[in-house]
This record gives sequence, C-alpha cells and structure tokens, in this order.
Amino acid sequence: MANSRSDLKTNDIFTKAYNFTKAEEIKSEGLYPYFKPLQATDGTIVQIDGQDVIMAGSNNYLGLTNDPRVIEAARDVIKVYGTGCTGSRYLNGTLDLHIELEEKLADFMRKDACVLFSTGYQTNEGAIQTIAGRKDIIFSDKDNHACIVTGTLISNAKTMRFRHNDMEQLEKLMKRADKQAGKIIVSDGVFSMSGTIAKVPELVRLKEKFGARLYLDDAHAIGVIGEGGRGSASTFDMMDDIDLISGTFSKSFASLGGFLVGDKEVIEYIRHNSPAHIFSASMPPANVATVLKALEILKEETWRLDRLREISDYMRRELRAMGFNVWNSETPIIPIVIGEMEECFKFWRELLESGVYVNAVVPPAVPQGMSLLRTSYMATHTNEHLDRILDAFRKVGINQGIIDRNGQSLLE
Ligand code: PMP
Repeated sequence: MANSRSDLKTNDIFTKAYNFTKAEEIKSEGLYPYFKPLQATDGTIVQIDGQDVIMAGSNNYLGLTNDPRVIEAARDVIKVYGTGCTGSRYLNGTLDLHIELEEKLADFMRKDACVLFSTGYQTNEGAIQTIAGRKDIIFSDKDNHACIVTGTLISNAKTMRFRHNDMEQLEKLMKRADKQAGKIIVSDGVFSMSGTIAKVPELVRLKEKFGARLYLDDAHAIGVIGEGGRGSASTFDMMDDIDLISGTFSKSFASLGGFLVGDKEVIEYIRHNSPAHIFSASMPPANVATVLKALEILKEETWRLDRLREISDYMRRELRAMGFNVWNSETPIIPIVIGEMEECFKFWRELLESGVYVNAVVPPAVPQGMSLLRTSYMATHTNEHLDRILDAFRKVGINQGIIDRNGQSLLE
C-alpha cells in the first residue's frame, strides 16, 4: 500500500489526494478559514479558540437552535423513540412523528402532500433524479445549489443551464428545446451566496408558455421570507403556480433534514421511487420533534420574521453606506464582495480577531475575482450585536484598504 508520496505509482487513484497541498499552503500562512471548531454556542455568541465571538454567518435565521422549548421537545421524544430510526422510511424507519410533520408542512405550504428526506441535499438530489428521466429536459439556473446540480447529473435527463436569473436566455433555450420532451425549470428560490430572490413571476410565465413544470428550492426562503415565512413564491403571492417546492430543516427550522411539497400523485411517485429516500435512514426523532416545535414557533411568533427583515434592511443599508459591495442581496444573506481569495482570507482573519465570525466564500463557489464574506443574520441578534459587527467591518475594511473613511469603495 502506498503511504508516502515517494511510493506513489503514476496511475494510483490516490495520487491527487497525496498531491493536494493547497489547504496546507494556506494553513501555513495562517489564513485558512475552514473547519474552524466551535467549542460552544448559544446561537448568537460562539466560542472559538477560547474566545467569545459574534456569529454572523449562520443559517439559523429564526435563532431557534438554542431555544429552550426546541431543546425540550428534542429531549422529550428521545425518551419515547430513542436516538435513531435505524432504517429507511420505506421499511422500519417511519414514525408517527414523520407523518405528523409531513401533514403539518403540506398544510403550512398550502400544498396537497409532503415527503421528508434526511437532509436538504438529499431532498433536491433525490427528487430531481426521480422526476426527470431520459426523455426529459431540465432547465437549471447556473447558480443553483450543488445538490440540484448533482440531481441533474444523475437524472439521465438533458440539462440546459441558463445564466443566473437570465430570463431571456431561459426563454431562448425553451424555444429551442424539443417540443415533445417533458420539461421542468429548477431554480433556487433564494440564492445562497448572493441572497437574491429568483424572478418567480417570469419563471411562472415561461413554464406556462412552454408547458413545463416549475421546481423551487426554498432552503433559504421558508421560515425567512414571504407571508408567514412561506418562502420566495409567497413574496409574489404565487404559491399556487409552483409545482414543487423544497425546503430544508438545517436553517430556520434549527435541525437537519429536508422536505418537498406538491401534488399528492407527484409526491407519492417520488416517495416510492427516489433512491435517496428509499435507501437512506429516516430523520432521527429528535430532529423531527425540533422541526415540529420550530414550525409551531414560526407560526406563533411572527415578530421573528419582522425582526429578521428589519435587521437585514439595517445591515444592508449600513454596510453599503460604509462603501462595501453587498452584491444584489435582498434577504438576510448579505455578501461582502472582497475580490481576490487571499484578500478575502485576510479580511476574514482580522474580523475573527475582532470578535466576528463570517464565512469566506471563494471560487468555484463564486466566480473568479468575486471572493466574498458571506454574512447572514438571525432574528435573535440584538442591536448591540449588529453594531459590534458593523464596527468590526468598518475597522477591518479601512485597515485592509477595501473602503475609506468617507464611505467609498477602494476596489476597482
Ligand atoms: N439548497 C440550498 C439552496 C442550500 O443552500 C443548501 C445548503 N446550504 C441545501 C439545499 C442543502 O441543505 P442541507 O444543508 O440541509 O442538506
């Protein structure tokens, strides 16, 4: 067995791994921003390297991961059902709790039916793979999440990718496509890096014009935007026009897992045919109970959505006024475009030293020259947290030569 670089044969499939030095190089410069362990967290304040730091990079939008009621709900069900389901939904892994959650989510999203998956990733990958086959065409936004890309790749369908939010190009592609083929447009409802909302009315117009179906991945939208937190289509009052909507539990719902809602027949087909659903163990009881409680709180405490919007508007306005480029953000995801990767990592490190955690995002997750710091906000951030985040951004931005003291960008 080869266990050192010098032993490697040229055709050893592990060669790429033994030669992968990029992460080590960045680590040796003290700039590596990934896999940073949190030693504790109360949701908004996390402990990193023994220091208390404000979390400004979590998808915990409603701030429910540490809510005592949610924790209690998880604890209570473990006593009844144990810690895991040890089987897939198809076989021994269905609990009455799963069915209760599916019914409540279908009802909340005003759709016929719902199917749960064990992660948000599996939801999109598994549903797209199953619903689109060899004779079908998927029209997919180029900025769609990786799980949608995986779903299209393993689906055997022809995939036509359109430039991000470019409805003109989408229309051209749809016009050109085989008239006999089954068609589905797939788009993120909120794009996870830019925080932009999809052009839902245009997507609906095109799906109708060309007899296609429309699938929205609302991972960053349900429990975040729209009436009562019903997501991107709801912000346009167009929920009835969307054929399939997926969501995840790893963000607003403070847990892990995912779901898909739509017509009963379509959901039942996916439930019975999706490998990601059939061949993977079901969501553990504590995860399901967490989501049930989070859904209840989402419905009752509408102030959380109002606060989230207020915070997002405030942060976008203030960061822009300082001279930062916040791209096209319209949601609690607010990217700060820095440009080159190394500058982005330096900014990240100085922010952390100043007591603020954000996420550094570099190519290929974003285009070349668009490395950014992805900030995201929670309903539970206090005004004091927000102002500390802003103070840190102002200080580091000036230090790093990204902005000046008069609110001007110094980037070309
Ligand atoms: N869709 C989008 C748009 C996402 O951003 C993510 C995760 N960040 C997922 C799906 C996958 O969800 P999960 O992490 O819950 O598996």
